[in-house]
Amino acid sequence: MKKQFAIIGLGRFGGSVTKELVEQGADVLAIDSDRTKADEFRDIATQVVIANATDEQVLRELDIPLYEHVVVAIGNDIEASILATLLLSEMGVKHICVKAETDHHEKVLKKIGAHRVLHPEREMGARLAHHLLSANIVDY
Ligand code: ATP
Repeated sequence: MKKQFAIIGLGRFGGSVTKELVEQGADVLAIDSDRTKADEFRDIATQVVIANATDEQVLRELDIPLYEHVVVAIGNDIEASILATLLLSEMGVKHICVKAETDHHEKVLKKIGAHRVLHPEREMGARLAHHLLSANIVDY
């Protein structure tokens, strides 16, 4: 059986995760509260829903507790990111991966049950630095 993925927030990060998962053959439920954003993914994700992820009833109606992996990719609205993560944690989602904006945000996310917390820009920056350094070593 295919793994089930739900991505909440279809900005650059969540959108990119969604596209890559679909390209690799996964089933992806894509959720965004913004209609325009959701519409962008109509032909990409397996299922697209316009919904507010901070609404517990909505998450239950979407059967979110049955998804093995849920990614919270809400950036600017830290309150929404925290509340959505808390609901997922309370629902017993097995793997909750959340994009964090700040160290404080990360600390709270870990406390309330996020299994993995990411800082995409920081991590990409560090990877690029390593890449540049290793390229330099080869150049010499
Ligand atoms: P990125 O850097 O990945 O582009 P960002 O960090 O700037 O994103 P936002 O643009 O604030 O983050 O949020 C990403 C997406 O999450 C947006 O498309 C927004 O509509 C969606 N979003 C925000 N709040 C909610 C919510 N409560 N429920 C569902 N989606 C939401």
